[in-house]
Amino acid sequence: MERLLNAIRTDARVTESYTGQAEISAQVMDALCRVPREEFVPDEASHLAYQNHPLPIGHGQTISQPFIVALMTDLLEVRPEHRILEIGTGSGYQAAVLAELEAEIYSIEIIPDLAATATTLLDRLEYTNVHLTVGDGWHGWAEEAPFNGIIVTAVAEDIPPRLVEQLSSGGRLVLPLDQPSGGQVLVVVEKQADGSTRRRDVLPVQFVPLTGDH
Ligand code: SAM
Repeated sequence: MERLLNAIRTDARVTESYTGQAEISAQVMDALCRVPREEFVPDEASHLAYQNHPLPIGHGQTISQPFIVALMTDLLEVRPEHRILEIGTGSGYQAAVLAELEAEIYSIEIIPDLAATATTLLDRLEYTNVHLTVGDGWHGWAEEAPFNGIIVTAVAEDIPPRLVEQLSSGGRLVLPLDQPSGGQVLVVVEKQADGSTRRRDVLPVQFVPLTGDH
């Protein structure tokens, strides 16, 4: 774990010119320390669980790189009283890291098998503040809105309008977006009191695509 934390610290310093922050907050680093990543990767990859890399989790999907999980979590500025929506449960690792910050976590996964595996695991690890459902996260989770923060862990071409609608005033949406010029960029969208949004591009990234028929 210490090697992984050092790798995350190094990535934070190396990317400071993009992100504007040379470190990940202590709360988020502590949250990462409390989540056993080896539980969220396939058995054959468990020896790689504490390396700072994405890993395959089946169905052509991945568990994200720990530095990116840390950065996106930090950018959300989660507080214990928050309600957070995640699009793309995958292995459930990002949801567990968010749950360690004591907020109430709602997560949507489009592949039923992945959602079922994540539900079993998060129940076994007693994350009672994580609520999962199967569906197309492009539409958000209107019944549970509004959310103080929304994180999307697959890349979209555009900012999903329903997600902005489901953000509370002052809330933050953290997501990767395709760039018209090619490549992807991690973006933070802040919803203002008048309902308008302010966008900040943070870092070039690489994510699997957001799928679905939206
Ligand atoms: N957050 C995950 C974790 O911690 O393991 C990693 C997610 S993986 C990079 C992206 C996930 O988004 C995949 O599990 C994929 O099936 C899911 N996904 C793709 N499109 C989706 C959609 N429209 N709605 C919900 N989930 C979606």
